[in-house]
Amino acid sequence: MVLAGGLSRRMQMVASGPEPVDKALIPCAGKPLIAWTLQRLQPQVDEVLINCNRRHEVFAAMGHQVLGDKLEGFAGPLAGMHAALHELAHRSERAITAQWLLTVPCDCPFFPEDLAQSMLASAKEDSELVVARSPEAEQPVFLLMRPALLASLEHFLKRGFRKIDQWYQSLKYVSCEFIEPLAFRNINTPEELIEAERILGSPHLDIEGLAQDIHILESVQVREPSADLSQAQESIPMIPIEALRKVLLDRLRPLERSHWLSLADLHGQVLTQSLTAPYNVPSHQNSAMDGFAIRFRDLRSDVQVQLPVGDRILAGHPSPSSPPEHPHALRVMTGAVLPEGFNVVVPQELCSLRDDRVVIPAGQQCGQHVRLAGEDIAFGDRVIESGTRLSAIHMGLMASLGIAQARVRGPLRIAILSTGDEVLDPMASEERAQGQLFDSNRFMLKAFLAKWPSIAIHDAGIIPDDPNRLEQTLRELSHSQDMIISSGGVSVGEADFTRSLMARLGQVHFCTVAMRPGRPLALGRVGKALYLGLPGNPVAVAMTFWYFVVPAIDRLLGLPTHPWPLRSAVAAQAIRKKPGRTEFQRARLDMDQSGMPQLTVSQNQGSGVLSSLTKYPVIAVLEHERGHIKAGESLFYVCIDDLL
Ligand code: AMP
Ligand code: MG
Repeated sequence: MVLAGGLSRRMQMVASGPEPVDKALIPCAGKPLIAWTLQRLQPQVDEVLINCNRRHEVFAAMGHQVLGDKLEGFAGPLAGMHAALHELAHRSERAITAQWLLTVPCDCPFFPEDLAQSMLASAKEDSELVVARSPEAEQPVFLLMRPALLASLEHFLKRGFRKIDQWYQSLKYVSCEFIEPLAFRNINTPEELIEAERILGSPHLDIEGLAQDIHILESVQVREPSADLSQAQESIPMIPIEALRKVLLDRLRPLERSHWLSLADLHGQVLTQSLTAPYNVPSHQNSAMDGFAIRFRDLRSDVQVQLPVGDRILAGHPSPSSPPEHPHALRVMTGAVLPEGFNVVVPQELCSLRDDRVVIPAGQQCGQHVRLAGEDIAFGDRVIESGTRLSAIHMGLMASLGIAQARVRGPLRIAILSTGDEVLDPMASEERAQGQLFDSNRFMLKAFLAKWPSIAIHDAGIIPDDPNRLEQTLRELSHSQDMIISSGGVSVGEADFTRSLMARLGQVHFCTVAMRPGRPLALGRVGKALYLGLPGNPVAVAMTFWYFVVPAIDRLLGLPTHPWPLRSAVAAQAIRKKPGRTEFQRARLDMDQSGMPQLTVSQNQGSGVLSSLTKYPVIAVLEHERGHIKAGESLFYVCIDDLL
């Protein structure tokens, strides 16, 4: 049930006429506020109900059953919940039963897409109610409750009480935490409405902020226009790469979408709940050795003892629940559960058998070779923190705890496309006409993206240089995707037609980046999707991907963004380098006579020469301010394998 029965008191200042404003119906980013709530809620539930106390016809037109309060006098959200429970009780008389009622307010357009699923997952067998919570506080209007609570709520309301948390505190309830910063942000004032519109219009990027930052970067970098044509390039504001990377990352907002995956699919995913141990590991005290288990009280510190041998206990089998009290030893294998009181294990190689007795040497320590219950992990311990990217070790750890599913960030939906009349699909086995070439970028990008299992890749194919086709494709993708990555079509020559169509679709900045290869780069939003337009040349695609796209994706997934793992070497020969731009030169690494690593750069640094990235396995990173480099000067490099 969407709760829309309130009086929207704080919103009345936006009312233009004598009619009171209904918050649910206030336009927000192109539709009534409640439409955002309905859009988010509908895929999560079997049926939607709307609670309202005015303008029934308007709400009914949204296609869901509308219920007014059954109590007089705008009694607040509990009255809406009461109306829903009443309706469900009435239906159950007709054998139409619902198992749970979920309530959400009409003014929270950002609640999680897996709200119902997560709340259900945290319900225990006997829970009557689940309340959502942020890390700071419970969110008492976001409830999942059993329909049988009608009687309890009716009783509570009849006594004149109105506070939701006061009601459910007397019930068997659990809370379910959501870590997303926006999840429960609600809209009460015109200012909050404006902020919400901004986020709904561009959920992953603060586009206004980015525009300001880029404007500042460009105005700092701008040079005097030159009349000399050969110098014309100098008049274009060139943005240093570190500065552009920083403003982009600062203006990105982490993805708020989470979903539940089963253990088998969790490797490499980013956890959005913290995991606590559902029981002790080890679950019972057990033996760390093959040998004999004994009670310490039956040993002597100074002389050996001989004990009769009782039961034999194997790993995976229960131990005798009440072993006899008289002194004796149990034959145990590694992992065997030790009965209460058996607090010493003596390894078999230290013992000898005499008739049917075992001889235990003097000097054994209490507790030796005994693994205690919970010694690895105790029940209730936090074992993996929210935000962790799950490694192979975490997989083993979760499995050891019997955790068969978990909540993770994603899927992050990314579309990739290539542009250009000359570009052909190698999979379509077409003949190449003069001037045509096979699309390498899309295949490379898809393979790059495969390293994040949280990404759902959508291959949007090749779009010819036809503004209408490109516009239509981008428009369609912007409805379903979080991010669109294109290659080609953003260089100065082509940017003009792309520029005007992008202005119709959203807000995109065509930057000239002070880097080689990879000068042209477009960034911004298309519709609500984040857009990154990479250059066309394949080496430039790889470089801009590694430098800008990798950290952008990490940021969206809430992961730390790492700088490249740089190492140092010396130049084997002089290297030509222009100050005022960062150059990434493909290079080879050798050792000189003294064992010092030295770099030889390739003579062909063409940005279309993809084969050079296989022949030259490292990239020399020549910093922005640096000029020509002499033989023997030290410099940084990065291994391509580390970037892959
Ligand atoms: P553009 O930025 O569209 O001018 O492209 C720059 C260069 O990259 C041109 O020579 C294109 O032919 C080439 N190019 C563009 N897209 C691709 C692609 N998908 N695969 C290989 N080369 C490409
Ligand atoms: Mg092109």
